[in-house]
Amino acid sequence: AVAAAAALALSGCSSRGSGSDSSAAGFDKGATIGVALPTKTSENWVLAGDLFTNGLKDAGFKGDVQYAGASGAVADQQSQIQSMITNGAKVVIIGAVDGGQLAAQAKAAHDAGAKVIAYDRLILNSPDVDYYVAYDNEKVGELQGQALLDGMAKKYPGKKNFNIELFSGSPDDANSAVFFNGAMKVLQPKIDDGTLKVVSGQTDIKQTATQGWLPANAQTRMDTLLAKSYGSTELNGVLSPNDTLARAIITSVKGAGKPVPTVTGQDSEAESVKSIMAGEQYSTINKDTRNLVKQAIAMVTSLSKGDKAETNDDKSYDNGKKVVPAFLLKPVIVTKENAAEAYANDPTLEPLTK
Ligand code: BGC
Repeated sequence: AVAAAAALALSGCSSRGSGSDSSAAGFDKGATIGVALPTKTSENWVLAGDLFTNGLKDAGFKGDVQYAGASGAVADQQSQIQSMITNGAKVVIIGAVDGGQLAAQAKAAHDAGAKVIAYDRLILNSPDVDYYVAYDNEKVGELQGQALLDGMAKKYPGKKNFNIELFSGSPDDANSAVFFNGAMKVLQPKIDDGTLKVVSGQTDIKQTATQGWLPANAQTRMDTLLAKSYGSTELNGVLSPNDTLARAIITSVKGAGKPVPTVTGQDSEAESVKSIMAGEQYSTINKDTRNLVKQAIAMVTSLSKGDKAETNDDKSYDNGKKVVPAFLLKPVIVTKENAAEAYANDPTLEPLTK
């Protein structure tokens, strides 16, 4: 706090209180905007870094983009955010490693008069989060649940009952429960009426979690499930929350010498798009990172003018301390059937659909 105050004095800013409302004085073009991203667990995070660096520059700001290191990521991210604030960032855009451990940093930002935007992942238990910008996470989960059903119906024509397993993301990422609950909205009624059987019996989010979103953890869990529950039993489908984990699950199944079941995903990673076109992974979700970064930068531009940022959902994202006004973008389900159309304007992915 002392360092932050000193930085403010140096930059000649007048004092500003904490807990300010969402419209404020604004700031000059050329201002520094901090962007704190998690470890590079998925392609989308890597892409987001480049897009923020270039996009903020094009919009007239100075981007300070940082990733938390792989080990000790939470502590890394906390100190990166603190230095962004100390160095005078007017907005900090945060893709949290652990959304539950950034309340002190969000408060420090407000104390220094900076705005806080949660990017992709919500920041929990903090009154100091001004905005949330993300793809509609619950919808992502619903699309995944429905894709699992559709994929199995296509893969096993005439079959009435399916054996499945469930995977969810990292427990420290607020999105993980939202994805899982969205999917279970679709799948639970089918489990209840006996259409679907989770052979391992592991249906609780604690049992299905993948710590750190690490593919190795999903692969190990799948290995164990196959060895324990699928000796002579056929596995028909796996709910996977994202592409990185989907590929790990497929690797495990292949390693066990079993046929690849219907596996869902998310993120439109190049390797998974190839796998979908090759008929292995069944689905992914298109959450075009270009649009999400653009929306976050549009928020910064509004704030720089002293305006409120545009939101389209001001009631869904209660972080435990406040309902954070959100701008949600619409995710799109992608299978082999609509891949060419879904990626038509994506120069990296479109060629993979040929
Ligand atoms: C993102 C997903 C991503 C996952 C792992 C989530 O918070 O919304 O797109 O697959 O993190 O990086």
